[in-house]
Amino acid sequence: MIILSGGTGTPKLINGLRHLVPDEELHIIVNTGEDFYESGVLVTADIDTLLYLFSGDLDTSKWWGVRNETWHTYDHLKRLGYDELLPLSDFDRAVNILRTDLLNSGKTLTQATEIIAGKLGVSADICPMTDGKVDTMITMKDPETGIVSREHYQNFWVGKKGRPEILKVEREGADQADLTEKVRRLLEDPDEKYVIIGPSNPVTSIGPILSVSGMRDLLKTKTVIAVSPIIGNEPVSGPAGKLMKACGMDVSSVAVAEVYRDIIDIFVCDIRDSIMTPEEASVFEKDGICIERYDTLMKSGKESAELASFILKLFDGCWNGKTNKCRNHS
Ligand code: GDP
Repeated sequence: MIILSGGTGTPKLINGLRHLVPDEELHIIVNTGEDFYESGVLVTADIDTLLYLFSGDLDTSKWWGVRNETWHTYDHLKRLGYDELLPLSDFDRAVNILRTDLLNSGKTLTQATEIIAGKLGVSADICPMTDGKVDTMITMKDPETGIVSREHYQNFWVGKKGRPEILKVEREGADQADLTEKVRRLLEDPDEKYVIIGPSNPVTSIGPILSVSGMRDLLKTKTVIAVSPIIGNEPVSGPAGKLMKACGMDVSSVAVAEVYRDIIDIFVCDIRDSIMTPEEASVFEKDGICIERYDTLMKSGKESAELASFILKLFDGCWNGKTNKCRNHS
């Protein structure tokens, strides 16, 4: 099973999926558009969340960082007058040092991730969306000074706590980013029939993955189920609403389904969602996309496992065995 993931909503779903599918059978294509260099090391925020989820180190009360972390190096740096945009715990920093060293010695990000996964005892397959460089860049206006600047996403979300008005979102480098050989082989493998697009931010998590050249076309050959990260007019957490508005989108599950229209077979929106009305759903259904409803709010492992189980049943129900695409979902 293939899953497209960012660093919060989809990892929650994967946490539930792990009760039903062995880790070795999970292939996760992960957003790298939020990766950035800090204190001399490459921080791959979403990849690390997944590595730590599978290694059992993730702090699942926050869905980032590791449990029982220590901050000795960060504290020493601060005493020396050096502050970090994203404070790195000691464990996290060690992983980032190893990754950066592997990259400097000529390994690709895919290879470096495999090596680190092996060292952490992770048997799931965690695949960076590309080995190229894609940076999510935000043009923003400071609410106090009115100054407009174009900065990396992490400066907007972590540095400025998501406060500035967003004027533009760009995926720098996306037009030159290629699929990795590993991801290509995975998506061309006829035995890998099913893809889940998890409830992640459609602009800054799933959007960059879909922007990698060739990704959308290969996904069209699969049976794809997407889960909405938006309930009503609000994301469950994070800046997705603000980012969607800045991209000229409505903040709704309908707008998310629209982004995935050409690749999905089934779209799961929340039972509380009043915007995906039967009339809205019928517009998608005319195009062969089934709209399903379920409780998608994952407050605990129990809800994650129930949503994961619902998705697996949908795959079972829609696979017609003849073509590579779901066409007779009932
Ligand atoms: P990021 O890399 O931290 O931005 O994480 P993601 O893009 O993977 O996840 C952020 C998105 O997950 C937000 O748009 C949230 O609305 C969504 N999200 C978080 N928790 C849940 C949940 O329990 N259910 C649903 N449906 N969406 C969620």
